[in-house]
Amino acid sequence: MPAFNISKEAAIGAAALGVVFATGFLVGRRYHSAFLIGTPKSLSHIVGKNSPLLQYVLDHSLREHPSLKKLRLLTLSHPQNVMMVCCEQAQLMANLTKLLKAKKVLEIGVYTGYNSLSMALALPADGKVIACDINEDFINIGKPVWKEAGVEHKIDLRIKPAIQTLDELLANGEAGTFDFAFIDADKESYNDYYEKCLQLIRKGGVIAIDNVLWSGRVLNPSKNDWGTQNIHQLNKKIFRDSRVNISMIPIGDGVTFAFKL
Ligand code: SAM
Ligand code: CA
Repeated sequence: MPAFNISKEAAIGAAALGVVFATGFLVGRRYHSAFLIGTPKSLSHIVGKNSPLLQYVLDHSLREHPSLKKLRLLTLSHPQNVMMVCCEQAQLMANLTKLLKAKKVLEIGVYTGYNSLSMALALPADGKVIACDINEDFINIGKPVWKEAGVEHKIDLRIKPAIQTLDELLANGEAGTFDFAFIDADKESYNDYYEKCLQLIRKGGVIAIDNVLWSGRVLNPSKNDWGTQNIHQLNKKIFRDSRVNISMIPIGDGVTFAFKL
């Protein structure tokens, strides 16, 4: 069973960015308590089944491409499906890349490739997603759907530790050439990913840092919980970082958008 119903599957298109931001904010406030129960699942996964308000958000804003729907349902049957980005957040990021007229995008942590597919669908014909992961088995779940959607050629897979890929891109003279980056891999490297993405992104480009609320655990980061500590320390650092303008959005498990100055 899918985590929620979507009554209308309209073709992907320009959704109202402001409305999505606003509803993300509302959902975060209304269901703040959901963060406090310490579940590792994202807000959308938690409240999706039972929340009429999130269902309303999805019913009135999600324009999921049929191939994205297919991959979402395919991923839901996978044991680690909580790792998948939530669809309303993927749509928001796809809309952002369109707004940026993005051609070069970085995906750090691909899993089954829902967001890579969403980005590839949003990019122009000559656009590229550099997709970094270490687990090819996960990616093989999504690859046939990328192909079916006709965008597999836009996704440039790099199967190795993402830090290595980012270093190679920098060594290759690609600093300042990316429009958008989504950081969504191992949390211990988040600070390194952020610093390297800041070099790789052009001025005016955007870095999206995922899971910044970490199921609410950032409210009470215990000393031995290195995952929460890493995210909390990076949140504090980015809050003070004069190299970027920021918005922290309570959508999914929380995402910070850092707009490079
Ligand atoms: N962005 C994905 C989506 O759209 O659904 C979800 C990514 S999932 C949360 C995290 C992914 O990071 C996993 O597929 C995992 O294999 C990958 N990963 C973990 N450590 C990594 C590393 N050092 N380098 C690259 N990828 C890594
Ligand atoms: Ca994530």
